[in-house]
Amino acid sequence: MAGLLAARILLNHFERVTLVERDHFPSQPQQRHGVPQGSHVHVLLIQGQQILNDLFPCLEQELIAAEVPQINWTAEWLTYSIRGWHPRFPSDLKVYACSRNFLEWKIRHLLTANQKLEILEDCQVQNLIANSDQSQIIGVELHNRNTNKTQHIQTDFIVDAGGRNSKTPQWLTTLGYQPPQETIINSFLGYASCWYQKPDGFEADWKGLLIEAEPPNKTRGGVLYPVEGNRWIVTLMGSGKDYPPTDEQEFLDFARSLRHPILSEVIAKTQPISPIYSYRRTENRLLHYEKLPQLPEGLIAIGDAVCAFNPIYGQGMTTAALEALMLDKCLQKRENLAQFTPYFYQQLYQVIQNPWMLATGEDFRWKTTVGGKANLSTLILQKYTDQLMTMTNKNHNIYYIWLKVLHMLEQPTALFHPQFILQVLQQMAREPFSTVEDNLSKIPTIFYE
Ligand SMILES: Cc1cc2nc3c(=O)[nH]c(=O)nc-3n(C[C@H](O)[C@H](O)[C@H](O)COP(=O)(O)OP(=O)(O)OC[C@H]3O[C@@H](n4cnc5c(N)ncnc54)[C@H](O)[C@@H]3O)c2cc1C
Repeated sequence: MAGLLAARILLNHFERVTLVERDHFPSQPQQRHGVPQGSHVHVLLIQGQQILNDLFPCLEQELIAAEVPQINWTAEWLTYSIRGWHPRFPSDLKVYACSRNFLEWKIRHLLTANQKLEILEDCQVQNLIANSDQSQIIGVELHNRNTNKTQHIQTDFIVDAGGRNSKTPQWLTTLGYQPPQETIINSFLGYASCWYQKPDGFEADWKGLLIEAEPPNKTRGGVLYPVEGNRWIVTLMGSGKDYPPTDEQEFLDFARSLRHPILSEVIAKTQPISPIYSYRRTENRLLHYEKLPQLPEGLIAIGDAVCAFNPIYGQGMTTAALEALMLDKCLQKRENLAQFTPYFYQQLYQVIQNPWMLATGEDFRWKTTVGGKANLSTLILQKYTDQLMTMTNKNHNIYYIWLKVLHMLEQPTALFHPQFILQVLQQMAREPFSTVEDNLSKIPTIFYE
């Protein structure tokens, strides 16, 4: 995804753009080897959707034409958190819910309409080509899987969007550069996902739902996400190596063990239409390119190749979209590409910081998380947001702003509006140990103001 979005931006700045992909692109939206996460729920946050709509002006129209479900996130999406059910009310927070495979396929088609783009499928980048003093990357070496031949292409500028499997650190080492340091924060979350056909005549006043885990002890959560073709993707999740199973009966048993029965009750009556897919490579991983004293020019990395998040917070594609916008700005500012690489990584780090803080801060709630510990500011932030969340049923505006932060439409600082701080302090003075509200089991109706 980061590669498609970067290619879209490069088309603004270069005469010719070549997209190199080791897989063969399927003609229909379907799972492919290089993106194993494609079978699992992928929520495109509202910020991400807005950026994609700007980059691909036809996209929204095409999603509507394909009957991709639209979810009013405050009214039609159910969330059962540690606080019980979140309030429901209509708002302008709307999400197009489709599968990752569909979204990627659609964007690729919109992108290929541009004559300046060339696609090299079935081609694996296996090395970089540098100039004589290794200060500039001038091309890549590819292995063409169809012909089984090696070929070289010359370039002015390369973007590595190879995801978690990016080889840039190794390639830099081979050229005599230091590889970036890695920070890994791992809560050992596992996913198992199964697809279902939504039953004919299924009636509910909600379109999807999330049952959250409850750190530090209740490790299990689950999500039912509607996607194109009248289907649901159901993803079960377990933190701290409480991995959900891939056997059908055990999958159902795991669903029954969630903190609320609604998800298991729905899927128990529904026929699965896929095998159960498993995924466990979910650690937060940040490669600190911004700290490297020396880098060759002509090569940058982007997307999961630099920073991958625990996927439970749904930030990866939206962060990739924000990074693409940032790449655009950098290319506008440094048209001649002089000293581009260190400048780019400094800017990239700014984009990554908030989603990184959110994902790792939440993962630190699990005692089993490795790679670091919550510092004082994280602990204060956790306590503060916990208090804030206890007030959402009475104050829908707090919940609305909270969701805007989660959907990356607002900075986390929006939660520290003086009015909110005051309310939190008043609440803490009144009920210092307030935890759970009285809305634990009854699904709320939609509240119209
Ligand atoms: C289980 C799971 C669930 C997720 N859920 C969400 C979600 O709800 N919302 C969200 O926004 N994000 C989610 N993400 C994250 C999201 O998938 C990624 O952050 C996002 O796709 C950006 O990744 P990327 O494009 O950098 O890498 P990828 O999507 O992994 O793509 C990398 C591409 O590079 C190709 N490639 C790799 N190496 C080479 C090579 N040497 N030569 C040629 N091609 C190569 C691969 O074949 C692939 O096509 C989830 C991730 C996982 C694992």
